[in-house]
Amino acid sequence: MNPLQQKIYDRFVRYVAVDTTSDPTSHVTPTTPSQISFAHTLAQEMRTIGFTDVEVDEYGFVTGLIPANTDKKAPVIGLFAHMDTVCDYNGKDIRPCLHANYDGGIITINAEKKMFLSPETDHNLKLCVGDDIVTADGNSLLAADDKIGIATIMTLAEHLLAHPEIKHGPVKAAFTIDEETGTGIAYLDVEKFGADFAYTIDGATLGEIDCGNFNADTVTIDIIGKTCHPGSAKGFMANPVRIAADIVSSWPEDKLPETTEGEEGFVLFKDVEGALDHAVVKGIVREHDLGKFEQFKKMLEALVEEKRRKYPAAKIDITFKKQYRNMRDILKERPQAMELLEMALKENNVPYRLTQARGGTDGAQMTLRGLPTPNIFAGYENPHGPYEWLSLGWVEKAFHTLESILKNAVK
Ligand SMILES: [Zn+2]
Repeated sequence: MNPLQQKIYDRFVRYVAVDTTSDPTSHVTPTTPSQISFAHTLAQEMRTIGFTDVEVDEYGFVTGLIPANTDKKAPVIGLFAHMDTVCDYNGKDIRPCLHANYDGGIITINAEKKMFLSPETDHNLKLCVGDDIVTADGNSLLAADDKIGIATIMTLAEHLLAHPEIKHGPVKAAFTIDEETGTGIAYLDVEKFGADFAYTIDGATLGEIDCGNFNADTVTIDIIGKTCHPGSAKGFMANPVRIAADIVSSWPEDKLPETTEGEEGFVLFKDVEGALDHAVVKGIVREHDLGKFEQFKKMLEALVEEKRRKYPAAKIDITFKKQYRNMRDILKERPQAMELLEMALKENNVPYRLTQARGGTDGAQMTLRGLPTPNIFAGYENPHGPYEWLSLGWVEKAFHTLESILKNAVK
């Protein structure tokens, strides 16, 4: 491990020792108080490193500034990582295990539980021969998602402040709450944050760049039936239970989450509730391309119209509610974030792929609120479970990519 990787790793070990699991069932912000106390710990460290304007706001967002060290023109660049970890698997008592100088073979996570990583199933391990790999011990998450992002940003800040010869514009860092529950970022005051554009350091594999995401709406189909005694129902009854089932099974099978991947969209029917008088079908519509997205919604409307004709005694309504939109178009309109990123990736010989996330990201939400924010790889794999691992070689690449962006942004 070189000294830079060591610094990042030491921070990482300190950060994962704190349990900051978020809670999707909570109705307060942040969803767990541990995020607030972790925020104050990070704020203290930021002040020690030399950040100015360090602040923890009422929701637990930590922000700080590394002032520009040049008079030349440069945009204000934001760097984001999230503090919470997912509740799907244990996030307490995390014990990182270092597998130094990976030899390309099988990595034992926990021999007793027969938990291993193999390059046969985890193909990206083949790219990491010679790297230091980190896993948990089989009893918890590793929480590299996203504490390695925090460790990278913090170490980059320390590096910049220790090397005034590296010229850069204003850099704003933010450590954020409740990313895994999807509920935190809406509370960030984007205007006050005051960056021209930003990056979340929360992607997985080396070179993975998320610069797009789904367009997303919810759909609700409301069915009011016509009920009577079943013995005399012929030609009279309209049964919402059966109509709901008919609607769900009439949607094309090749446009479902379980049959699509990559840039293919889908409709997920996620909830059906009903009885003889009334039924409600709830779902979500997801598609990267806005034109196809609108087409999906028209298809659903047409499907409902068809069922209205089939069941004239029933009353069927369909409504859509906007959730979020693809950030891709905004990133194209304001291209500086992506231009600097691609230049930095090339400069550091990082083979990269521009991908469309099959979900929403914090960056997408911020982009739609006026702060263009693509997502950069942080260097981990298999997040949200006990097989999570990271490569310190990849993490170092993320570090140098960010450093190049900040340097190249100075005109
Ligand atoms: Zn994450």
